[in-house]
Amino acid sequence: MSDIFKLFPFHLAKIFFPLMIKTFVRVSPPLQWKGGMICDLFKNKGSPALILSYRDVLLMDDDGKGVQRLLRKRLFPLANLLCVDSQFGGGLNGGETAIAHLYLRLFVDSINFSRKSGAIVFYDVCSAFATLLRRIIFDIDQGDENWLRKLSLAGFTEDDIDHIYNFVKCSFFDNYENVDLSSTGNNLVFNLAQEWYTNTWTSQEFLPNVTYTTAGSAAGTPLADLMYSLAMSRVLKTMRQALRNEGLETCLREPDTGVEFPLADVSFVDDMALPIVCNAAMLVDHIANVCGIVYLTFLMFGMELNFLPGKSAVVLCFQGQGKKQAALDLFKADNVIRIKKLPNNFRSVTISVVDTYKHLGTHISFKGMNFELAFRCGLMRAETCKLRSILRNSELKFYKKIHLIQAYLLSKGTFQCSTWAALSKPFYRRFHGCIMGMYRDALGEYHTPCSINDMFSDDDIIYNNSLIYPYTMIRMSRLLLFVRVIRKNPPFIMNFLKQPMFGAGSWVSCLQQDLTWLAVSDKFSACNGFSITQWTDFFASRLESVGAIRKFCMSPWANVSTHNNYNNVVGLNHTIGCTRCKYMCDSDQQLALHLFKHHGIKDNIRLYVSGTRCPICLMEFWQREVLLNHVRRGRTPCKRQVLLRGPVLTSAQADEVDDELRTFYQNQHRRGLRRHAVSAPCIRALGPKVTFLAGPARVHAQP
Ligand SMILES: [Zn+2]
Ligand SMILES: [Zn+2]
Repeated sequence: MSDIFKLFPFHLAKIFFPLMIKTFVRVSPPLQWKGGMICDLFKNKGSPALILSYRDVLLMDDDGKGVQRLLRKRLFPLANLLCVDSQFGGGLNGGETAIAHLYLRLFVDSINFSRKSGAIVFYDVCSAFATLLRRIIFDIDQGDENWLRKLSLAGFTEDDIDHIYNFVKCSFFDNYENVDLSSTGNNLVFNLAQEWYTNTWTSQEFLPNVTYTTAGSAAGTPLADLMYSLAMSRVLKTMRQALRNEGLETCLREPDTGVEFPLADVSFVDDMALPIVCNAAMLVDHIANVCGIVYLTFLMFGMELNFLPGKSAVVLCFQGQGKKQAALDLFKADNVIRIKKLPNNFRSVTISVVDTYKHLGTHISFKGMNFELAFRCGLMRAETCKLRSILRNSELKFYKKIHLIQAYLLSKGTFQCSTWAALSKPFYRRFHGCIMGMYRDALGEYHTPCSINDMFSDDDIIYNNSLIYPYTMIRMSRLLLFVRVIRKNPPFIMNFLKQPMFGAGSWVSCLQQDLTWLAVSDKFSACNGFSITQWTDFFASRLESVGAIRKFCMSPWANVSTHNNYNNVVGLNHTIGCTRCKYMCDSDQQLALHLFKHHGIKDNIRLYVSGTRCPICLMEFWQREVLLNHVRRGRTPCKRQVLLRGPVLTSAQADEVDDELRTFYQNQHRRGLRRHAVSAPCIRALGPKVTFLAGPARVHAQP
């Protein structure tokens, strides 16, 4: 439909003009524009048989949306004034998901380079949109029964409920007077907006008739997200006030100058995250208190937070004094935090602690970029498999395939890569390999071992076809995000960026590298050696540099290997050799891998221990691989003692154990974790220790 509008603007304007006039003059939009068909959309996770795995979307008449957008434009400045400064949904505060996510990335980076413990609490609201919009936005007298019933079910007393009811009614638009209403024109816009939400309707496939709503809106209309953000800002404001009253606000202190930044919550429409910084011993307590306050605040407005696994969650990192004890305590509590500050008659609620959380589509974690990278690479590989028959089709033109790759594969694979921090070498290789694999599939240029073929290096392929080097994609989107941040100047972020509290591997240091790299280009050669602050001033005065950045990133110079994704050239300076063939390599680990891959030989140390507990020092490691590494490294007497005692498993038994664990390790790999990733802190088991055996100083594992 919108295409038709674009193709025949004049003709359609003629047809729609009377309707438009009527809408505005009579202050009543046509009924057809006020409703639509509700469809269920599978969320792509969970069982398709469960209703919970679907979200509702509203399909509406497209021509009504255009008029609503006009209204939205008029209401927007007002909404921007009323909303909280860290709300990024619906275009508020220059918002987009990348900026909201960047805020958290900067927080994670600054925690990782400090001696403080930090946490981010993510809150998920049960069917937030439907709950909030219905009641709060437009002042309606009836229909609050459900909300009040919810409050009393949750455990509030009659007295409490009266207070809450009055509070929400009176202080909903508390800073309404301060806003200059002339900016929005007149009452017409308000009344029209209100009219739009009166007598709405929805229909559903396979059901006769429509549902009729006196007041309400569904997600997906241009005004709805604005209204929602506005309503949410009231909740957030109340929440901040409550946290301040309880003394639960935290600040990030800049180490050198002692300047403090208050840490604010960041939200994107209904997605809310709250960063917390604290010392290790107090962290869990602090989170429990904060969650209690937030839970109660949301409940006051009739919104229930969803604390089921996979919904609201905490990611945290213990650092500094007392971190071991804190990690152990959390582990003993099964990695859940019991929420405090709830009134006595409430049922108890817990929030779970997770390694990584998917915030606005991107995984965030204190443990590096591996979760996100593994997810993106997995996605790209799966999608490439689906499209492989098309990509390998030699009938199709190459540029068409490249369009296909960009539309279906790269858009998913590099989603929000502008917020990625530094990638470790193996993970960058994984990413690089995924993208090069697609290019090679499309071109049909592979390296097949043991045959004569036209082998091209990655650089050749990129140069010959004027493609973009994978790392340049990340660089370009990071630079463009930086320029966008400067242009939109969202609160907090710019200030946060310039602080010297980021170390190597952080987003800011990556940005600094990118900027240095950019300074090589002609347009930016004057900026060589600039600091972030200088760059900010430079871009602020020249916002048209976006084009120059893009152009530079497309140039052949920008698309040569700039990131060390290659191994050293094989054949030089190898010191370790295989005793069974001519293979030479650099490290024991490579040799062990070669021995297993080519000769089927495994390290014999695996025969000497069973289970997950070290028999010598009685440490419980919870995972066999961690135990094996503990013994293998031999820093403690454990290796020698274990070897002196002799094998406890036969090699058949050890193989059986390996087979059992194979799926577990595969899953770990898929999540982006290595075999020896520690999931739980190790503890020392009770018991008498074994007496140490005397023997030769050096013992070697015997098969
Ligand atoms: Zn060999
Ligand atoms: Zn040990």
